[in-house]
Amino acid sequence: SQLLENKVCIVTGAAGINGIGLRTAKLFYEHGANIVITDVNEQACDEVRALFEAGRCLVMVSNVTSKEDCQKVADAVVEKFGRIDVLVNNAGITQPVKFDEIQPQDYDKILDVNLRGMLYMSQAVTPQMKHQASGSIVNTSSVSAQRGGGIFGGPHYSAAKAGMLGLGKAMARELGAYGIRVNSVTPGLIATDITGGKLDDAMKQKILEGIPLNRLGTPEDVAKAFLFLASDLSGYITGATIDVNGGMHIH
Ligand code: NAD
Repeated sequence: SQLLENKVCIVTGAAGINGIGLRTAKLFYEHGANIVITDVNEQACDEVRALFEAGRCLVMVSNVTSKEDCQKVADAVVEKFGRIDVLVNNAGITQPVKFDEIQPQDYDKILDVNLRGMLYMSQAVTPQMKHQASGSIVNTSSVSAQRGGGIFGGPHYSAAKAGMLGLGKAMARELGAYGIRVNSVTPGLIATDITGGKLDDAMKQKILEGIPLNRLGTPEDVAKAFLFLASDLSGYITGATIDVNGGMHIH
């Protein structure tokens, strides 16, 4: 069945061919949505355009850390589709360094893309959602926020992802009156390119020992949780955090 028929859904950081974002855009598209893919990677944007019918898709090179870029996306979406129903804040970067090794510029980069990006994109879409008196915003945090890292990203990544949970809850409280729901997903270890080949077999084996479902997650596992939170199936859920981690962190 079609859970997002005629809905207009933006997914940030969604041009990576093996990423959670593109898998999410594809699943939303299969469910009838018009999809908007943004990504800072120009070449990747060019490659994904061909995957979708032009009338039902908008692909934009855009940096979530730029307030101006975020506003341009919101404006272009309203111009092309007339509304904005869903925003999935998925753009994110990580860095596997230790506490002592975090440099000022690393801190800025990790906090800016993950946390500031969520703020700017959300600020860009909420005026239209308020105008419609409906909308769903879904944020991609991480199990790293809940257990203090220890999987792949460094402490600054944990901080950024934990910040996203706090910001998301505060947004849910403030925006509920306008019919806008805000929820977060905390994925465990998902097999994508984000680890940049730095996750070796020994590391993987060690991580698997702590996962009751005994496998790494797939982008599809996360995309399905996003679909639930984006659609009316979750119509009375806001301010929630949904774990998609195979039981890696049961709390
Ligand atoms: P990915 O690297 O495939 O996807 C991230 C995408 O974001 C890339 O396409 C990248 O070009 C884009 N991006 C980076 N900086 C950007 C910016 N400034 N503006 C716009 N786009 C930008 O990785 P992924 O694993 O699919 O990650 C998706 C999200 O899931 C991220 O927020 C990540 O932190 C989160 N996450 C991933 C895992 C995992 O194990 N893979 C676990 C928990 C959370």
